[in-house]
Amino acid sequence: MSRKERIIALKKARDATILAHNYQLPEIQELADVVGDSYELAREARNTHSSVIVFCGVLFMAETAKILNPEKKVLIPVRDATCPLADQLTPAMIRDAKKRHPGAAVVLYINSTAACKAHADVICTSANAVTVVKALPEQEVIVGPDANLAAYIQGKVPDKKIIAIPPGGHCYVHDCFSQKDLEAARARGGTIISHPECRPEVQRGSDIVASTGGMIRVVREHESVGAWNIFTEKEMGYRLKTLYPDHTFNVKDDAICKDMKKTTLANLLASLEKEQFEVVIPPDIMQKARGAIERMLVIGR
Ligand code: SF4
Repeated sequence: MSRKERIIALKKARDATILAHNYQLPEIQELADVVGDSYELAREARNTHSSVIVFCGVLFMAETAKILNPEKKVLIPVRDATCPLADQLTPAMIRDAKKRHPGAAVVLYINSTAACKAHADVICTSANAVTVVKALPEQEVIVGPDANLAAYIQGKVPDKKIIAIPPGGHCYVHDCFSQKDLEAARARGGTIISHPECRPEVQRGSDIVASTGGMIRVVREHESVGAWNIFTEKEMGYRLKTLYPDHTFNVKDDAICKDMKKTTLANLLASLEKEQFEVVIPPDIMQKARGAIERMLVIGR
């Protein structure tokens, strides 16, 4: 049996569901039961009936799946596949910001650790961040850990004060897009769609700003076949091409999330064979973080 066939057989034997993020390698996306952005996968994790979830992504995503499914076994094929953006925020930074802004709500991007989520009032994704912030009664909102996303929210919700923590928090994959990329895309032609994690000036120079799930919706709703410049992680081009083969998608070849690429067929197979690596979260963190995620699932539709 090939590695791929063994994964499919083991998936059935273990009663497992494989969830994969849009930035995973093509061979992983092909084998997954569901491919999506953080929000879609969080919802899917809550609805799945399998006893095991194998999360092909980075640790905060697998933690989110575990928090929403405490009774299920959640596995991540690579223990050290983490998100460098999430790792820029600590619980101490949140406590400090709360002290400085006692009346503010804390809205954390889903790209944060479970330990940080336990200190949040509500979680958001890039797709629903604006909806979530608008729905809160507080006028001051602490947002972390992505300062570019915080600036995006501030632009859409000007009547509230957005406080970004840490001040320069960013994702190195999205922060690498620049004026030069905008100029090259304009010269090439086609619509420019950037992710809210890109720098504010790159967002302003784009035609559309959208989460990865939003990018799929935009292309789906476009009436004619088109050319698109996709300003997010490179593999999103593969995902879009799979869904819309007649369209053209230009990506930046070095916009690569190294941690997303750590998951391979070999370690996915090992994960199913040995039931490794199980995501374990202390119960108190689990309970508090769950409240913040559930609130997002209610108000962030
Ligand atoms: S692309 Fe950026 S935000 Fe997403 S997992 Fe990688 S480092 Fe984190």
